[in-house]
Amino acid sequence: MNYEIDNDTFSSDAYSIPKFWDGIAWYVLGWETEPDENTEWSGYEVRTGNVVCIMVGDDRRFSIEKEDLVPIEREEYCGCCGQIGCCWD
Ligand SMILES: [Zn+2]
Repeated sequence: MNYEIDNDTFSSDAYSIPKFWDGIAWYVLGWETEPDENTEWSGYEVRTGNVVCIMVGDDRRFSIEKEDLVPIEREEYCGCCGQIGCCWD
């Protein structure tokens, strides 16, 4: 799963995705992209409209709809385990 970084749109440190995962913090990598019929010669992939996210503390990539992302503050989640409300770090 490839992605295109867009730190202007995804300016928050982390996000929650309450629709699917309760109490877990996520990092946004960027817009999900995929090859289209022009990619072979253009070298560019096109955005699917979804966003590539990883759970804090994990590296598996998930494709998420932007509407499902809720920005959260750095104080709200744990940078180690990624749980919202854990204050270990
Ligand atoms: Zn923790």
